[in-house]
Amino acid sequence: MASQHGSGTHVERRVLITVTGIVQGVGFRPFVYRAATSRGLGGYARNTLAGVEIDIEGSQDAVGSFCSELEVNPPSNSRIDSITSVEFPLNHPRSFEIIESGTGASRSALVSPDLALCDDCRREMLDPRDRRFHYPFINCTHCGPRYTIVDDIPYDRRRTSMREFPMCPECYREYHDPLDRRFHAQPVACFTCGPRLALVGADGQLMLSGAGDAYGARDRAEEILSGAAERLRLGKVVALRGLGGFHLAANARCDDALELLRTRKHRPGKPFAVMARSIDDVRSFANVNPEEEVRLASAAHPILLLAKKNPFPLSTLVAPDNPFVGVMLPYTPLHVLLFEISDLPPLIMTSGNLSEEAIAIGNEEAIERLHGIADAFVLHDRDIRVRCDDSVLRVVNGEPSGRSFQIMVRRARGFAPLPVQLPSESPDMIAAGAELKNTICVVKGRRAFLSQHVGDLDHTESIDAFEETVDHLTAMYGIRPELVVHDLHPDYYSTHWALRFAGAKGIGTVGVQHHHAHIASCMAENGVTEPVVGIALDGTGFGTDGTVWGGEVLLTDGARFERVGRLGHLALPGGDLAATEIWRMALSALIASNGADAAQCAAELLPRSVVDRLPFVQEAVEKKINTPQTSSCGRLFDAVASLIGLRQEVTYEGEAAMMLEAAAERGTRDDAPYGFSVCREGMGRTTDSKTLPICPFPAEGEGTPAAEPLTANELFNISPVPVIRSIVADLRGGVPKETIARRFHNGLVTAFATVAGCCARQAGIRTIALSGGSFQNALLLRGLTTALEAEGFHVIAHRDVPANDGGIALGQVFAALRRIQSVSV
Ligand SMILES: [Zn+2]
Ligand SMILES: [Zn+2]
Repeated sequence: MASQHGSGTHVERRVLITVTGIVQGVGFRPFVYRAATSRGLGGYARNTLAGVEIDIEGSQDAVGSFCSELEVNPPSNSRIDSITSVEFPLNHPRSFEIIESGTGASRSALVSPDLALCDDCRREMLDPRDRRFHYPFINCTHCGPRYTIVDDIPYDRRRTSMREFPMCPECYREYHDPLDRRFHAQPVACFTCGPRLALVGADGQLMLSGAGDAYGARDRAEEILSGAAERLRLGKVVALRGLGGFHLAANARCDDALELLRTRKHRPGKPFAVMARSIDDVRSFANVNPEEEVRLASAAHPILLLAKKNPFPLSTLVAPDNPFVGVMLPYTPLHVLLFEISDLPPLIMTSGNLSEEAIAIGNEEAIERLHGIADAFVLHDRDIRVRCDDSVLRVVNGEPSGRSFQIMVRRARGFAPLPVQLPSESPDMIAAGAELKNTICVVKGRRAFLSQHVGDLDHTESIDAFEETVDHLTAMYGIRPELVVHDLHPDYYSTHWALRFAGAKGIGTVGVQHHHAHIASCMAENGVTEPVVGIALDGTGFGTDGTVWGGEVLLTDGARFERVGRLGHLALPGGDLAATEIWRMALSALIASNGADAAQCAAELLPRSVVDRLPFVQEAVEKKINTPQTSSCGRLFDAVASLIGLRQEVTYEGEAAMMLEAAAERGTRDDAPYGFSVCREGMGRTTDSKTLPICPFPAEGEGTPAAEPLTANELFNISPVPVIRSIVADLRGGVPKETIARRFHNGLVTAFATVAGCCARQAGIRTIALSGGSFQNALLLRGLTTALEAEGFHVIAHRDVPANDGGIALGQVFAALRRIQSVSV
C-alpha cells in the first residue's frame, strides 16, 4: 500500500480543464493561480468565451489535489456549472501563468452580476493610511461593478467601460501580482488613475469638479460628497449616479423633501425605497429577522420589503398607507462614503426617472431627463453600459411549517444576467416578454438569460431601453435568433416589435398565451418538464377567446395548455380604466351579484361620488359599451377593496390588492372562507390548439369535493357571485373589514385548491404550479401551497424569477422550446 502511494507522486500528468459557470470577474483565475503555484504545478489559465480554461501539469498527486480544490473551495462569488478535463501529452512548462483571453470557443461564458462592496475594500476605504482612503470607486476581485460595465465577453478590462482609464503604476502592479486581492480585478482603480466625481447644479452647471491631477483629488471627492450630504440634510433632492443608473436621493425623515419629490416625479403614492447606513439603523424603523438580515447583506444587496415599525419614525410619505417599507444597505463605495463622511439619516433612493420610465444612466441624459426634479447631481465618469435598477424581494415566513418563501418582485442588479438552465438544447431565440414590468429573454444552448427589469413599455424611454437590452444581450452572447416569441396581445409594444423584428430577419414567430407563459416560467425555474396543473392569478392577460383572463387553472405540458378552470366572469366597465378607477369593479360586482338591489347596496356601502356613477356603469354593462368580460383575479381584488372602503382609485398596479392583503393579515387564519360556487361549464374550454387534448380526463376521478369529473370540453367556473353577496351581508352586519378581507383570501385559497386538486387528480398529475402577479401576495402563496401539499401534491412556485410579468419572457422561451420538441418527437 505504502509503495503504491509513494509511486503516485512520481508520475507526471497534464490535463486540460474547462470550467463553465460564473467564473469570470469573481477572482477565479487568481484562485487557480494560487492553487497551482502552491502545489508546484505548471501550465496556464485563461478566460475564454466559454469560461476558464486551465492547462495544468505536474505530479499525479498535486494535479489530483488541485482538481479537488477547484471543486471544493472555489471563490465565494463564483458558480461552477461544469468542470471537464482531458488528458494531454506532457509539455514540461516552466511555470504557471495567466495568459490573454482566448476567443475561439462558442460564446457561453457567464457574466457575473454586480457585487456589493466587500469587507476588505470597505476597511481599506475607511483607513486613513490606505492609498484608497475615501476613494469612491474602490473594488477588488470580490466586489464591484460587473454586468453594468461590460460591453462584451470574455470579461476583460478592454471590453468594459474601464478601458477609458489606463492603470497607474501602482494599480498595474496590483493587477499583475498573483498574490494580490486585485490580481486581474478588471475595474481596479485609484485616485490617480480611476473614475472621478463631479457635483453639478440643477441646470447642469458644474459646481465642483473631481477632475485634474491626482493631488488633492481626495479632498475634492470629500468636498463633493459633503456638498451632496449638506443638500440632502436641507431637504433637497440629489441625483446620484450609481452602479446601474441614477438614483434620486432625499432625506427620509423630511416630509417637505418627500412631498417635493413626489410632486416633481409624478408619483403620488407608490412607495419609495430607503437606504440606511447600517443594519442597526434599519432596525430603528423596520422589523428584520435573521433571514432577512442575511439577504440584505448578501453580495446582491437587494431592496427587501420589510414590515414597518409602529410607530414609524421616518416620514409617512416614504410609503403612505403601506405596512411595508423597501430597505437596502449601501452597496457601492460611493454610497458607503456618503453616509460615513456626513452621518446622514436614512435616505430615499428611488430610480432616477419619471414614474415608470426606464432609469437614466448617462450624465447628460440624467441632467436633461431629471431637470426640474433634482436640485443637484453627483456625477462620475465611469460609463454605465447596462441600465439596471435595484432588485426588490420579499421573504415570507411559511408558518405553520416554518419554511420561508422568497418572492422576487423586481429582478435586476445583483441577479441579472444569471441564466436559468433549460431542460434541453435550444435553437437561439429571443422572447419579447409582456408590456408592464417588461423583461426579455435570450437563449443560447441550454441557457435562458432573463434580462434585468426593463420597465413599462408605454414610455418612449422604456422602449429605447428594451431595444438596448435586446441589442446588448444578443451581441454579448452571439445570439443568432431562429425564432422570436411573443405574447398574444395584439396591442403590446413587445408583440409589435417581435413581429417586425422577425419579419425583417425572415425568421419564425411563436405566440404564447399570457397565463400559459406564467406557468411555463414557473416550470422552467423549477426544471419541471412533466405535465402540471397551473394556477395563474394576475391582473390581466389576453385570452384565446377574446375575453380578458387573469384567474386561470391550466393543464399544461409546457408546450400547450388547456384551460380547465377560471374565475367567473365580471364585466370590466371602461376596460383598462377599471384598473385605476377601481370603484368601477365594485359596481360591476354589485350588478352581477345583487341585480335589482345593486343600487340599494351601492347607496349603503359606497361613497356618494361612486353611487352617482352607477346608472352610467349599469348602462355600459347592459349595452356592452367598452365593457369586456374578465376572469381577472386582480380585478376581483379591486372590487373587494373598493367595497370595503380601502380605496376607490389607485395610482399604481397592485395597490388595492396589497391594501387588501395587509387588511387580511390583521384578520385571523381561522376566519371562515367565503364560498365561491364552483360549477362545470360545458363547451367553455378553450385551448391554443385544435389538436389537443393533451391530457384526457379519465372517467374515474377519485374524491372530487367540488364537482363531478369534467368531461372533454368542460371547465370549472369559480363564480365570485356568492362571495360578493356574503361581503355585502357582512358589511351590513358590521363585520370588521379585516375579517372580511381574510375570509375573502381564505375563500380564494379554498376554491382554487379544490379545483386545481380535482383537475390534477382526474388527469393523474402530481405537480401544481403557482404563478402570476397575485402570487406576490403572501397569503395566497402560503395558503395555496399549504392546502395543496396537505393533499399530497408537489407544489412549485417562483423564487429567483418574478411571479409577475417580469417572468413572462422566460415562460415564453420555455413554451416555445417545448413546442419545438413536441413537434420533432
Ligand atoms: Zn473588494
Ligand atoms: Zn491607480
